[in-house]
Amino acid sequence: MINIIRLSGLYAPTLKEVPSDAELASHRLLLRAGMMRKMGSGLYSFLPLGMRVLDKVRAIVEEEMDAIGAQKIVMPILQPAELWHESGRWEAYGPELMRIVDRHDANFCLGPTHEEIITALVRNELRSYKQLPLSLYQTQVKYRDEIRPRFGLMRSREFVMKDAYSFHATQESLQRTYDDMSGAYGRIMDRLGLQWRAVEADSGQIGGKVTCEFMALAEAGEAEIAHCPCGFAADAEAAECLCEPTLHDVPALERVHTPGVRTIAELAAFLGIPATSTVKALSGKDAEGALTVLFVPGDHELNDLKALQAVPGFTLLNDDEMSTFGLHKGSMGPVGLPEGARVVADRSLQAVASWVVGANEDDYHYVGARPGEHFEVSQWADLCQVRPGDRCPSCGLPLQGARGIEVGQVFQLGTRYSEALNATFMDEDGAERPFLMGCYGVGVTRAMAAVVEQCHDEQGIVWPSSVAPAQVCVIPLTVGDDLVQPAAERLAAELADLGIEVAIDDRSERAGVKFNDADLIGWPIQVVLGKRGLQAGTVEVKHRRTGARKDVALTSVAEAIS
Ligand code: ATP
Ligand code: MG
Ligand code: MG
Ligand code: MG
Repeated sequence: MINIIRLSGLYAPTLKEVPSDAELASHRLLLRAGMMRKMGSGLYSFLPLGMRVLDKVRAIVEEEMDAIGAQKIVMPILQPAELWHESGRWEAYGPELMRIVDRHDANFCLGPTHEEIITALVRNELRSYKQLPLSLYQTQVKYRDEIRPRFGLMRSREFVMKDAYSFHATQESLQRTYDDMSGAYGRIMDRLGLQWRAVEADSGQIGGKVTCEFMALAEAGEAEIAHCPCGFAADAEAAECLCEPTLHDVPALERVHTPGVRTIAELAAFLGIPATSTVKALSGKDAEGALTVLFVPGDHELNDLKALQAVPGFTLLNDDEMSTFGLHKGSMGPVGLPEGARVVADRSLQAVASWVVGANEDDYHYVGARPGEHFEVSQWADLCQVRPGDRCPSCGLPLQGARGIEVGQVFQLGTRYSEALNATFMDEDGAERPFLMGCYGVGVTRAMAAVVEQCHDEQGIVWPSSVAPAQVCVIPLTVGDDLVQPAAERLAAELADLGIEVAIDDRSERAGVKFNDADLIGWPIQVVLGKRGLQAGTVEVKHRRTGARKDVALTSVAEAIS
């Protein structure tokens, strides 16, 4: 069966008016071109043309997953709260989590992401190192109760995501898959026709620390990027990035290289100060349960948190809680703490003369904080932020600014979820160990919007052929004409026979309406059939992107457009 899109019967109501709440080009044009409709705040229906594009974006993403050996599955959208309690994220995820209570008063959420579910899926059945590594993925709607759903598909409350998860016995194996996934993500961005950059980023809610965002460059993007011609790029808003923390000076604090120093006593000796006057930064909860970092003096192992248990009103975080707050093991200093954490130098320690703060980095400490001093985390985040204008850490050139749309992100999660949910395997020595995990997400609907953001003009969308709803639209200028219409039908059938995706505008509309709609919808190629041309045996071929038009013999249209 030849599948030709007939505009006469197609449900693609185009709009002349720009919807008033649509600020971005992608939002406006997807509505105007009859590709989607808004059903509520951050909720969209896809109409047939939009659906075709979405299917193509999804197919590209899935082909690249299949190509690196990831296996497709599907998991429930509705997720039992118990699993989120096990990971500690039922509380920590906050109001973005869409929560539901069933008739038996059991709690559920609509999945914003699937770390808990996938870990529970494999935890009793993926048992041996011999079965590793394993990568699984799905493409599915996700739910996030975004504080401000906006910009159409860019930030919606229901959106399609491809999410992949990998399981490993060793860090080397995790790194290999992470690299494979990053490679696949680059190919996905290329195939979508996007101008993009891979950007180092912070790991937000998900936990872990090795992560990279795939950003489509666009003025409309919500993310600020600092990048350099040498290839370096960083998320300028990230609180934890892998750059040198000396880029921004924090007054009164000195970053000191402390090679090999492991204990407070060693640190004191290294700095030539009495051991009792040194402090360490520790993460815990204060009396109100807020995440707080406290500086205390003493002669302890730098990573031995027990010494703090004696501090009144202060509870140490266990590993689960640390991950809940987005901290990773061995995280000592305020650098890398999530926004909103409080950093408090305990006032009971006023007598201490000199303060030393762990730098959240091997072999470095900050010196010179004063007793009783409070630091807001944002101040600490400045320590390692890079902004346009700063010197690039890799080559020293000034960084340039750009804006980007986060289309995808890859993470090394480590054992954050496998430990919390007790998902272990038997390693080569017969020991039970938690899986090392990675997770990898692409926003399929957001990617579609990003393509429009980069590929449009005054008249409408300019789809790259990889995701266009069809490659060619055949436009007979006079429907019902006994020369034009049959010729258009024959041409469409002939192109379809050659495997080319074809639409035919067989509506009895004026030529101007057809041209406007064709430009708005964004078919890469338009083939226009008029009476006069046909009498001379020619049709007009127009390339949407360049606007170039050419008269072509009716008999050689296929060649002309391939
Ligand atoms: P953002 O920083 O924009 O809020 P995120 O970092 O919270 O995104 P991830 O958890 O990394 O998102 O999810 C993977 C991908 O899902 C993102 O890279 C993005 O493409 C997509 N995505 C996330 N939130 C939304 C949303 N509200 N609407 C559409 N797509 C989204
Ligand atoms: Mg988000
Ligand atoms: Mg993000
Ligand atoms: Mg992200």
